[in-house]
Amino acid sequence: MPYRQETALPSSAATRGDRIRRSTPAFTPYRQDPAPAAPDLPPCPARPPWQARWPQRAGWPWRIGWKPVWKSALERGAWKRPAAVLVCLIMFAVGRMACAPHRQEAAAAAGPSLNHSAGIPLDEYGAVALIPSPNYNARPAGTIVNCVVLHATATATGQEAVNSFLNPKSETSSHFIIDRNGAVIEMVPPERRAWHAGVSALDGVADVNSYSVGIELVDHNDGEPYSDAQYVATAALIRRLRMHYDIPDARIVSHAAVALPPGRKTDPVGFDFARLYTALRS
Ligand SMILES: [Zn+2]
Repeated sequence: MPYRQETALPSSAATRGDRIRRSTPAFTPYRQDPAPAAPDLPPCPARPPWQARWPQRAGWPWRIGWKPVWKSALERGAWKRPAAVLVCLIMFAVGRMACAPHRQEAAAAAGPSLNHSAGIPLDEYGAVALIPSPNYNARPAGTIVNCVVLHATATATGQEAVNSFLNPKSETSSHFIIDRNGAVIEMVPPERRAWHAGVSALDGVADVNSYSVGIELVDHNDGEPYSDAQYVATAALIRRLRMHYDIPDARIVSHAAVALPPGRKTDPVGFDFARLYTALRS
């Protein structure tokens, strides 16, 4: 029997022989150096549990470790920001609800307006319509606005006055129009120079347009009495203008008072300035 076949034992016998060979010192006819000593290594640290190896700051919506996302979020204080946002939203909603009656009152007081702004003021002057007129230019540099000129539109409606001031050929405009119902229409911002007074002077200073704010009251200018709403709105508008400009009572004047030559203009006929000054003080 060949040698190779003699050693090809069944696997169980080979395993057994292996064990025998390991447990028995190997026989060698030659002297061998001793095996190098194993280095004295520290024991391997215990492996942390798998939960601890998970990233603790993993983002939503993954589970963080073995906890649900919401639990981890609560523990690390992540509820604070959404809670702050929620509180802000609640405060905003409560504030809006608290203001609603005032807004409705303002809308009711202003009445119907030309551009259907529901009476809610659109700017710091309480205007319920902003209809920019092309008829304006810049005030001269360094001009101090310290005067209000009141006019009558000599029209039946505010819309007619608006149409006139929208027409570039008319070359006239006014900062504000106050309709019969007291609605304030702004056509030129007071920072700009509107063209309402024409040739004029006040206290010897010419060109009233440059340093005044023009307010047109819708009225036929034939003695037609001005409405209560117009007095109230005029006083309110001048009070608002006074937050920006220093306008004493004495410099709230009629167009008739500043137009040159004297007698060129009569408006606003029949306007009760004493009533306006009283309203301004109340
Ligand atoms: Zn006028």
